[in-house]
Amino acid sequence: MPELIEVEMYLKSATRTVGRTVSSVALPDPQYLKGEPGLDALQSSTHNQNLKQVRRIGKLLILEVGNISLGLRFGMTGRLIIDGESPVERLLYTTAKVDQDHIRFVMNFTQGGELAVVDPRRFGSVELEPNETVLGADAAKISPQELGAALNNSKAALKAVLLNQQKVAGLGNLLCDEILWRAGLDPRRPSRSVRKPELGVLAAAIQDTIKELTRRGGSHMGDIQQERHQSGICPKDGGQLQRCTLGGRTTWWCPEHQH
Ligand SMILES: [Zn+2]
Repeated sequence: MPELIEVEMYLKSATRTVGRTVSSVALPDPQYLKGEPGLDALQSSTHNQNLKQVRRIGKLLILEVGNISLGLRFGMTGRLIIDGESPVERLLYTTAKVDQDHIRFVMNFTQGGELAVVDPRRFGSVELEPNETVLGADAAKISPQELGAALNNSKAALKAVLLNQQKVAGLGNLLCDEILWRAGLDPRRPSRSVRKPELGVLAAAIQDTIKELTRRGGSHMGDIQQERHQSGICPKDGGQLQRCTLGGRTTWWCPEHQH
């Protein structure tokens, strides 16, 4: 959390600021700025510049300001606040309350209002000219062919590859488990073992799950969400859900129907 669905909500909210002029940017926590160019470069290259466009690849939100692009990553607990309002009130691992100490980045506008990032656990970051070419295809519109290329040649577990942003961009832990549960695929399988018919099923499950959970309000609204615990049962067949760690993340799956 936040995953592609939440960052897409941030994007929709941030488009409200397109066309405004940046008066100043502030980074109360200097460590939140990643990459070579420092705070001086960030301030001088955005000052009095127009916010021309906001876009998204996977979980990376990109602001086009003047001649530069500025990447925002939200880590585990990052929320975007636009003019004092957040499109996502509450994330699973944090609260709705905005603590002033947790504000990591603020962009103020000449016309008024601001775009801010609040991130209690500060795994997120801000980066000038982020390298977008390292990211895989965006999960919301990935084709079976692109998915096949991402999974091909890897002995790594299917779920670990889906979590890898350089292979498929946008999926986090909750979306991955829900997608694989819906597709009936075992998350521990070597990713290269996924065959052509299954690729179609998986690509469809990725897109359908993203659409449906977006309608329901977030990546934490999946069918197996309530069952992610010791005695959790599969809502499809009543099987006892199993737990393991894949790609460094706690994974739940159903041995009855995920193969
Ligand atoms: Zn099941």
